[in-house]
Amino acid sequence: MRKQVRIMGVPVDQVTLHGAYDSFQGFIDGSDCRIIVTPNTEIVMEAQNDPSLLNVIEDADLVVPDGIGLIYASKIQGTGLTERVTGVDLMLKILEYCHQHQKQIFLLGGKPGVAAKAGENIVKKFSNIKIAGVRDGYFNPEDVPDILEEINNSRADILFVALGAPKQEKWMHQYRNALKVKVAMGVGGSVDIWAGTVKRAPEIYQKLGLEWFYRLMKEPWRYKRMMALPKFMIKVLLSKK
Ligand code: UDP
Repeated sequence: MRKQVRIMGVPVDQVTLHGAYDSFQGFIDGSDCRIIVTPNTEIVMEAQNDPSLLNVIEDADLVVPDGIGLIYASKIQGTGLTERVTGVDLMLKILEYCHQHQKQIFLLGGKPGVAAKAGENIVKKFSNIKIAGVRDGYFNPEDVPDILEEINNSRADILFVALGAPKQEKWMHQYRNALKVKVAMGVGGSVDIWAGTVKRAPEIYQKLGLEWFYRLMKEPWRYKRMMALPKFMIKVLLSKK
């Protein structure tokens, strides 16, 4: 049974990485395209002022808490999220599954060349995965019918979408009925990590819940977006009072 909690009005599944992976396994044999989203604190804040984004998250089949702020908020609210489940980690588990079950994946997004490089590196690690197709994430709306056809003709089982949040979540939601893949997952910067163009924070930062700080040091221009984290914590504390 799916159990969700609300963080500032946004539904999030009360899952661990293990539980999220179980849900994924339930999706892969289904008949429809199931959507996985991995909101962080910025996205939960954005959904406060964007009803269409909230609707997209409401409609997703699995919503994992990919932000330490969401876990803190849940602790303050007493709503029971226990651990952060990152998109990077869930994608890795899904890739392991694809390797074991010889599944095909399609990588959509990133700058030109990034998805192809990510695909190469994925196959180096997981030799049974077939890269059914790749496509960069800088296209015009009029290209979408061709892209959907390319994805469907590729016979991919799983589509990883890296168009940045919340664009990728909205894109998957808009086209889910036109997609023949079993699972579509928004993965943001994970394709860059697989391609080797961006490095993930060292484990010590991850363990301390400071991955956001590492990212701020590496990509300081993101500070405006990242101001969402303290604003969010203040909102959560005020709402508690
Ligand atoms: N991206 C894309 N098309 C776009 C915008 C972004 O393919 O129109 C890609 C970008 O190149 C990067 C990924 O989406 O590979 C994640 O972008 P960003 O770091 O902005 O998003 P976040 O990780 O915060 O979701």
